[in-house]
Amino acid sequence: MKLLAVFGNPIAHSLSPLLHNAALGNAPDTLYTRVLVPDETALRTAFESLRLAGANITVPFKEAAFRQSDEVRGIAAKIGAVNTWVREGEKIIGYNTDAAGFLAAIEHFGKPDGKFPRALILGAGGTAKAIATIFAEQGYDFTVINRSAERLGFFAERGMKCADYTQMPNGAFEMIINTTSAGLKDDQLPLPAGDLERYFARAKIAVDVVYGKQTPFLQAAQAHNLQTQDGLKMLIMQAVKAFELFFGNEPRNGARDQGSE
Ligand code: NDP
Repeated sequence: MKLLAVFGNPIAHSLSPLLHNAALGNAPDTLYTRVLVPDETALRTAFESLRLAGANITVPFKEAAFRQSDEVRGIAAKIGAVNTWVREGEKIIGYNTDAAGFLAAIEHFGKPDGKFPRALILGAGGTAKAIATIFAEQGYDFTVINRSAERLGFFAERGMKCADYTQMPNGAFEMIINTTSAGLKDDQLPLPAGDLERYFARAKIAVDVVYGKQTPFLQAAQAHNLQTQDGLKMLIMQAVKAFELFFGNEPRNGARDQGSE
């Protein structure tokens, strides 16, 4: 039996078991479940005691998962956050699939004027770090803004354009990306309404990483007739990339027969 799980707190809402078990088809020897982890000291212990083959790690443990990995591979090392653990023998290997998942989710917007849309990233938390890091690798022109200055050090140290809300840039951005948790459990906008409207007036695309809810940010973007996208596609694409790390091309009983790959 191969067991995998998603770790977080809270975790009951997580769609990861649904996504991974659907992709597994009726593979009888593999199960993906969810585990509520009380605090970060229990993270690695949970992985070891359940003898997991792999795990996804969600809020608020991605930075702890980075620190607790035996080895970190790929872009996760630059981001400082891990959302996927894969067992290799007795070692836990950490990866970050949020960054590539986000990129795949917005790929269809393409390069309208022969270059990537100029982007404004709202927020400076873990998700913003993942997106900014892969944008920098890809050659996007982007700026990060956050309501408080404390978390901007990560971006400034890497030479990325960033500012707090007292120094919001005046330029035009084609794509506005909300990575803040504003609107997740309340009806708040991530920016004062006037500032957001100023950016929307010159933008074409608004993307929110929140899923399962039409946030006030996306509602306001629709009122400005922007193309909009919520976080569901990112969620699916990061899961697809984690699934590839878990299983690679390894045959899974039943799954191939079910045409689930
Ligand atoms: P963090 O806690 O690391 O960062 C939260 C950010 O939001 C901070 O920059 C914070 O600003 C800002 N913020 C919070 N509330 C407000 C507010 N009312 N107004 C303005 N700014 C605010 O969170 P994560 O980056 O880990 O996650 C952010 C969101 O992304 C969550 O909603 C999460 O569910 C979603 N997510 C979605 C994924 C997907 O696959 N679709 C994957 C990963 C995350 P400050 O620094 O000033 O506190």
